[in-house]
Amino acid sequence: MALQSRARPEAPIISDNLTVQFAARSLVQSNNPFRLPRSVVPTRYQLAITTDLEAETFTGTVVVDLEVTEPVRELICNAIDLSIHEAVVRVGEQRYPLSTEYVHAEERVRFVAEVELPPGQAVLEVRYSGECNQKLVGYYAANYTDNGEDKRLGVTQFEAPHARRAFPCWDEPDFKAVFDVELTCASGIIAVSNSPERMRRDNADGTVTFSFEPTMLMSTYLVAWVIGELELSEPSASGQTPIRVAARPGQGHLTAFALHCATHALQWFEEYYGIPYPAAKLDLVAVPDFAFGAMENLGCVTFRENLLLVDPESASRTELERVATVIEHEIAHMWFGDLVTMAWWNGIWLNEAFATFMELSCADAYRPDWEMWTSFGLLRTQAFETDALAATRPIEYRVDTPDDAEAMFDILTYEKGASVLRMFEQWAGPERFRSGIGAYLRAHSYSNTETADLWTSLSEATNTDVVAIMDSWINQGGHPLITASPTPHGVLLHQTRFRNLNGSAPDATWQVPIRIRAEVDGTTVRRSVLHSGEPLAVDLGGTPTQVTINEEASGFYRSEYQSPWATSVLTTAPESSPAEQIGILDDLWALFSAGRSSIEPLAVLLRGLLTAEASPLVWRRASGILGQLVALTPIDHVGLQHYWRDLAQELAVPTWKTLEPTSEPSHAQQEVRALSIALAGTVGAYGPARQEAARLFALQTTSARHS
Ligand SMILES: [Zn+2]
Repeated sequence: MALQSRARPEAPIISDNLTVQFAARSLVQSNNPFRLPRSVVPTRYQLAITTDLEAETFTGTVVVDLEVTEPVRELICNAIDLSIHEAVVRVGEQRYPLSTEYVHAEERVRFVAEVELPPGQAVLEVRYSGECNQKLVGYYAANYTDNGEDKRLGVTQFEAPHARRAFPCWDEPDFKAVFDVELTCASGIIAVSNSPERMRRDNADGTVTFSFEPTMLMSTYLVAWVIGELELSEPSASGQTPIRVAARPGQGHLTAFALHCATHALQWFEEYYGIPYPAAKLDLVAVPDFAFGAMENLGCVTFRENLLLVDPESASRTELERVATVIEHEIAHMWFGDLVTMAWWNGIWLNEAFATFMELSCADAYRPDWEMWTSFGLLRTQAFETDALAATRPIEYRVDTPDDAEAMFDILTYEKGASVLRMFEQWAGPERFRSGIGAYLRAHSYSNTETADLWTSLSEATNTDVVAIMDSWINQGGHPLITASPTPHGVLLHQTRFRNLNGSAPDATWQVPIRIRAEVDGTTVRRSVLHSGEPLAVDLGGTPTQVTINEEASGFYRSEYQSPWATSVLTTAPESSPAEQIGILDDLWALFSAGRSSIEPLAVLLRGLLTAEASPLVWRRASGILGQLVALTPIDHVGLQHYWRDLAQELAVPTWKTLEPTSEPSHAQQEVRALSIALAGTVGAYGPARQEAARLFALQTTSARHS
């Protein structure tokens, strides 16, 4: 697909009809007392903010075009920690002063008119002031020192929901509007916002005013600006979209990797979604004082500095992977989240799970040698462990207040959510999944959705009942254990809830998308089946000699094999892909934790897998398991402690010795060598490995001092 030739869609022009249409579609009346009334709908904000960065204060004027849908006396919107100086409403030629009542507990203001406002158009004008706070949310001061001098940037962070700390607004994601931003600050300061700079004006008082192009129709939590002594990189171009990195001065040499990665990502996502990038430019802004990893403000993405600025010459691969995936995650949101947005905060899990899924897909395309989906297996392990606890939670749950949604920013949202999407994508077929995503984004562009809207689009694209499948995964916590037994014709699959030993989680069943690969009469047979709870016999044309019921470990469930496969899976594991090896290792560890397997099969598997040729990711997972085994063994259980120690030595020392440094070891060899030394020295308590680690550490610190 030729991206460069694809025309950029214009931002929607706001006409009354369109406004009403959006309002009717997305603004569902709600009984939730935390939701604003729908009697007044904002369509456009003209926002002018003058900041005194030294004093960390600002004054603002906001002019809001409103559609009044029923007669009202008061305009209720969100504002907190702002001083309102004057508010008026205009209806046609008439201007009506408004009295202001703060409702602090609900972070609202009520602007009350002396007359009733009729349905139709109205314009709210508010003059106000506030402080750039130290809370890292709203409009805040990001402090740093430069050559011993205290400095600061003025930065916004409006998710979720903090736009109300910077300007009075209807601060809920389904009140989408167009934003015209104008920022005034001292000369010498640079300002960036969501849209390209339209005009820069020097004022008589020595200040400078930056005006920006109107944004597309979008939610308040995506509005952003950053002001300060910023240095902007030369733009890199992806099609027609200029991409820049903005950072404190003197860091220009650390921007090339981010630009390269973002340029690839923007183009890759345009192709994947089949929709041009929805904003007119993309700035990636490094912020020295930032609470989150990064924030997907449309066209003006903010990052913690060390997640954007990196020197590829000295950075480790892990650091580069982290920077790349964070950039890819945020760019994925420009469509999924920004162009199409959840109607309320209960949808935040899907926003984040999907962006996590997409960041991995994009990173896998950017650097196939990073094997991102294999390394994701290690993160999925953590999600499995949390989700196996009786106290786990459903992925989606009822959210009344924005605070309720804060609890969604965890491993069950990001890693379990992304795992469930990956499971379905691999089972339904990546191309059909992609076309469902594209259809969903096209159908709901510039609008808001419920979770079920995505399932509807995916159902149509994949010809399956996605609602039934996904409801079983997102509305209840936990995950299944699938047990495979041989039959004369293939395999019989049983499903139960996976529980740790003595676990008390209630029974549950899932609609489990399962991908089977089997060897039958010397032929490889593949089947994709849906396990709905009842025992399921799958015809494979004969009894397999070998079988895996979770191909490439893309399913979010535990697998257990009955004899004779319980043994053959151990011996054939070294021939599997690293992703499957990690899956088999992890399943066996889980079965041991659940009291369903003894330690011997795990030891057999570890002996088979941990070789000098094995993937470092397999070594990493195996080392983690051995470390956990030692930690779980009582200190006075000397016999067992020695067993782990001897096993770790037996596994690690030969590999370490095999991988003596050569002139040009591969990255994998270097990492396996390091991991084998670490395993021998820690769990193995092996003296020579500890000495080698100390020697390498001394070497590293000496060379760091001299460089
Ligand atoms: Zn995100």
